[in-house]
Amino acid sequence: MPYVEKERYQLPSDCRVHRDNDIYREQEEHKVHSDINEWRCGFCKKTFYEEKYIDKHFDSRHYNLLNAVHVYALLLMIRIYVAVLTVWCL
Ligand SMILES: [Zn+2]
Repeated sequence: MPYVEKERYQLPSDCRVHRDNDIYREQEEHKVHSDINEWRCGFCKKTFYEEKYIDKHFDSRHYNLLNAVHVYALLLMIRIYVAVLTVWCL
């Protein structure tokens, strides 16, 4: 959050918008917007024409390097939960 950093505010660590609680912080920090139609991955230097494609790239290629790992764990748990409910309801 540029304003918070510019003013050097200190947010409590349990605040939802605290830098350490931002699950997309590391992804955004590795997203280099070098030109209007050029986005470069900070991990592997691959380039993309649109931001949505670099986001998909992060999801598929670098999910193990990002803080969003727990999001994938949650999605996996939801899939398992839905599968169990599907079996129980049949
Ligand atoms: Zn990459």
